[in-house]
Amino acid sequence: MPQAQQRILVSGAAGYLASWIVEELLRDGHTVHGTVRRLQEHPKTQHLLDLADQYPERLRLFEADLLKEGSFDGAVEGCSAVIHTASPYFLSRPDDRERQLIGPALRGTQNVLASVKRSATVRRVVLTSSIAALYNDARDVSRMGQQTLHEGNTNPNTHSGRNPYAYSKTVAEQAAWEQCRQQQRWDLVSILPGAMFGPSRSKRPDSTSVTMMSQFVNGLYRRGVPRLWLGLVDVRDVASAHVRAATLPQAHHRYIAVAKSLRLLEIAQLMRVRDFGLEDKLPRSEVPKMLMWLLGPAVGMQRHYVARNVGHPLSFDNRRSQTELGVRYRPPAETVNDHIRQLVADGLVPA
Ligand code: NAP
Repeated sequence: MPQAQQRILVSGAAGYLASWIVEELLRDGHTVHGTVRRLQEHPKTQHLLDLADQYPERLRLFEADLLKEGSFDGAVEGCSAVIHTASPYFLSRPDDRERQLIGPALRGTQNVLASVKRSATVRRVVLTSSIAALYNDARDVSRMGQQTLHEGNTNPNTHSGRNPYAYSKTVAEQAAWEQCRQQQRWDLVSILPGAMFGPSRSKRPDSTSVTMMSQFVNGLYRRGVPRLWLGLVDVRDVASAHVRAATLPQAHHRYIAVAKSLRLLEIAQLMRVRDFGLEDKLPRSEVPKMLMWLLGPAVGMQRHYVARNVGHPLSFDNRRSQTELGVRYRPPAETVNDHIRQLVADGLVPA
């Protein structure tokens, strides 16, 4: 059902996910205030400048930094909804987890919500959380007597030293719910995406989803993959979930956004190997857990992560997002092959 046209802020507008959100909002007739860290950084923002040309007067870009108090005040002005996606996303261990990851996620969310508080117009805030805010390790989930995670799960044992990214997403979401409870004017909806893949709207190589897919098709796992389950989802479907969460009055609480849980080997088997000349690049088998434990650090996988996640099945209940937001998930084969096609077309992996 078409929704009334609104003015909506999207933070981190040049990011992998946010770029699709901006495009869908514009396509639906809304006006968008997009924030980026640096307006002059054209390689990062060119695709947004192109959208601004395509939709005259409907996309305004603002400079804002998650760590600067008041930075989002100008962009929030006049908006009825805020979609807060900006947050550092990387899975490698940061040198300074507080400065690089936790500070921008937590203080950034608090800063955006402080700007929302100062505005008189915002009625709905949509926060991009993550399935990482539901659990720490797959082993904990099976120990809870569960295999399928749902929106009622939280991550009470999250620890900044063990999994700093999961910690950053968990505490940022908790802080947002806390701030929401303290007032009546706006309500909060959080979206918890799984591992996003699918084509990027920009040629940026630095988003973690883009790096992960590039490494996969460039042969990182050609000798075998760990027996790991990924809650996979198409970035375009996650963008739609955000747009619906921002514009449907009845949207509320948390929504898991995952299409399907698949093993890494199953994901490799979905790739159209011949079309993309990937014959000798993709894994054909799974590495035994003990060997993975020994080799893990060499491929950037901590031993404690291998011990607690490899070999532990995991799945996600996505029914709320389908019934209440109306999200229709693309088949994972479409997601991964569209992603590879874009990487090849944009010269990010060899043809
Ligand atoms: P991305 O492309 O790296 O986007 C992250 C965005 O955050 C970028 O626009 C970046 O700005 C912005 N940002 C980072 N630090 C900032 C700071 N100090 N001030 C202002 N902006 C800052 O990654 P993504 O995959 O689209 O992630 C978007 C959101 O989805 C994040 O909240 C992430 O945690 C969440 N998520 C992602 C996945 C996934 O698989 N990709 C899964 C679950 C949840 P610049 O453009 O200036 O770099």
